[in-house]
Amino acid sequence: MRIVVPAGGIGGARFLRGLKAALGTDASTGPDQATDHEITVIGNTGDDITLFGLRICPDLDTVMYTLGGGINEEQGWGRTDETFTVKEELAAYGMKPTWFGLGDRDTATHIVRAQMIAAGFPLSAITEALCDRWKPGVRLLPMSDDQVETHVVVEDEQGRRAIHFQEWWIKHRAALPASEIISVGADTAKPAPGVLRAIRDADVVLLPPSNPVVSVGSVLGVPGIREALVDKTVVGVSPIIGGAPVRGMADACLTAIGVQTSAGAVAEHLGSDLLDGWLVDEADSDTKVDGIEVRSRPLYMSDPETTEALARAALDLALELRGDEAR
Ligand code: GDP
Ligand code: CA
Repeated sequence: MRIVVPAGGIGGARFLRGLKAALGTDASTGPDQATDHEITVIGNTGDDITLFGLRICPDLDTVMYTLGGGINEEQGWGRTDETFTVKEELAAYGMKPTWFGLGDRDTATHIVRAQMIAAGFPLSAITEALCDRWKPGVRLLPMSDDQVETHVVVEDEQGRRAIHFQEWWIKHRAALPASEIISVGADTAKPAPGVLRAIRDADVVLLPPSNPVVSVGSVLGVPGIREALVDKTVVGVSPIIGGAPVRGMADACLTAIGVQTSAGAVAEHLGSDLLDGWLVDEADSDTKVDGIEVRSRPLYMSDPETTEALARAALDLALELRGDEAR
């Protein structure tokens, strides 16, 4: 079976781990479980930022480290056993910004990427090269090889201005009210090589509980991707439970684009042309959305078993809606 998953960082990566377990493509279930399932991840690159001359791709790296066994589990991003000597030394030189959590081990990844960028490789080829080490067990494609960056329009005592999403998210903890979220470069970006083919060949498409605006939304904003996805059976997992994001500040992103922070409003925003099915938490079991099949399940990815069960539920609903009993 071929599954396509457009994904952000932490929520996307944890869901993917559950999906791999549900499909038995996880090494921990034993080699004799090896299957012919193929998961293609279309990774969000809207969070990408250039700092200290290094191109940093937080969501691609979070998926790669999480599925490859290198993630800091408690934090959900960054490397295990990380140190921050480079960050401290940069600060000692007065280098700005100081708010980005640039770890030493992580920096090695960014140096490899910078070197390959300088040698002329596109991000898709660089991501493939980095995955040679991590072996995430999925095909990880950036949504585009073209630079697309999420910027946020804010207003404070310094006036009205657009800042990079990372500055808004990390430095300001999304507490500066945002009036607009802009995907800079999206209008002329092309899907990365392999993206449209993977969608065309997919049996089903699953949307993980990723940030619906700046993760899933930016993938959908690359011209051609959303249009290709509407032809497929698409089932999403709500990132909103009981009117609140489970972790992070997705509510601030939804408010900025005028969407209510509720499981139903997010599904409506994604659209019934795109979504065939939508999993909501049991706390939201009364959710109804015109033209979308809504089911409720426990949606907290609190442990591996629950995460696997929710991924399986998303897959089962997709196969059911696709009218497919063959698995
Ligand atoms: P990010 O890079 O941290 O923004 O990770 P993603 O872009 O993948 O999205 C994280 C989003 O997923 C958050 O905004 C939460 O709303 C949602 N989320 C995080 N953990 C869970 C969980 O356990 N269950 C569900 N249903 N949603 C979650
Ligand atoms: Ca993200």
